[in-house]
Amino acid sequence: MAKAKNNNKVRLSVQAVWAAVTNSYVIGFIQGKIYKGSLKNLCVPGLNCYSCPGALGSCPIGALQSVLGSRGFKFAFYIVGFLMLVGAICGRFICGFLCPFGLIQDLLHKIPFPKKIKMFKGDKLLRILKYIILLVFVIILPMFFVDISGNGTPYFCKLICPAGTLEGGIPLVIMDKMLQSIIGFLYTWKLVILGIIIFLSIIIYRPFCKYICPLGAIYSIFNPISFYRYKVDKNACINCGKCSENCKMGIKPNINPNALECIRCGDCKKICPTGAITSGFKNKPSCKNKDVKHEKDKCGKL
Ligand code: SF4
Ligand code: SF4
Repeated sequence: MAKAKNNNKVRLSVQAVWAAVTNSYVIGFIQGKIYKGSLKNLCVPGLNCYSCPGALGSCPIGALQSVLGSRGFKFAFYIVGFLMLVGAICGRFICGFLCPFGLIQDLLHKIPFPKKIKMFKGDKLLRILKYIILLVFVIILPMFFVDISGNGTPYFCKLICPAGTLEGGIPLVIMDKMLQSIIGFLYTWKLVILGIIIFLSIIIYRPFCKYICPLGAIYSIFNPISFYRYKVDKNACINCGKCSENCKMGIKPNINPNALECIRCGDCKKICPTGAITSGFKNKPSCKNKDVKHEKDKCGKL
């Protein structure tokens, strides 16, 4: 348990440092303006709103919608190539370690609540929603529902994204009097979505990542084939079930260590009493714990 807590601290530190570095345009927060320098041409791997006053890079989902919806669109080589490269290298490791909105949900889930929900009826079905959102709001609508000049709208950003509301919409409206005078129904709608996600994040671990995030949907497809992967040494595993019990994403890592939903948080690795779960780019099975037999015997007596 102490190992798992340490793991959480390390992960939280990495998440916090990455979020701070990629949102370090401090002048933006002071002046209420967005950074528009050359770094904005590059994407960050996680969901980080383009309109966050501190953002140095672009959100890949926002960029993908912009390119797909642009009049002269042929193919989004850079964005698709970027997503494929990142996905092929590390899959949903990005969700676990390098996504600012993942960090926000992790922190919200630490808020005490009388009854936290780990699993509910319909959970598995609801996880399909993020693939539908990716297809409809990120790809089809921006490509085909265009204005008279032939340009599409980033529908996911405009209608759904709570990260955009929290990181971009709210700070900009607070700091810009002109924006305050023109906000209307859409802004209220986005605030409602954000409020629901914040509340749900307190009682359910990462609801946005599980059910809504189109970026998580893309990276999830790469999880089973990415270079960075998890492996379970079947000889070392004593089927104690501790890894499944402790997985907040609802995965059974001893059965499917490279499941679509795994965000590579590492909790299962740390909790496993025999060290049967390993991760890495080479990923040779390694039974690092020499006391496996002892653990097996001990478990057999329980
Ligand atoms: S399977 Fe392990 S690494 Fe993946 S989300 Fe669950 S606890 Fe984290
Ligand atoms: S915690 Fe380790 S030993 Fe127990 S079931 Fe999971 S992989 Fe196997």
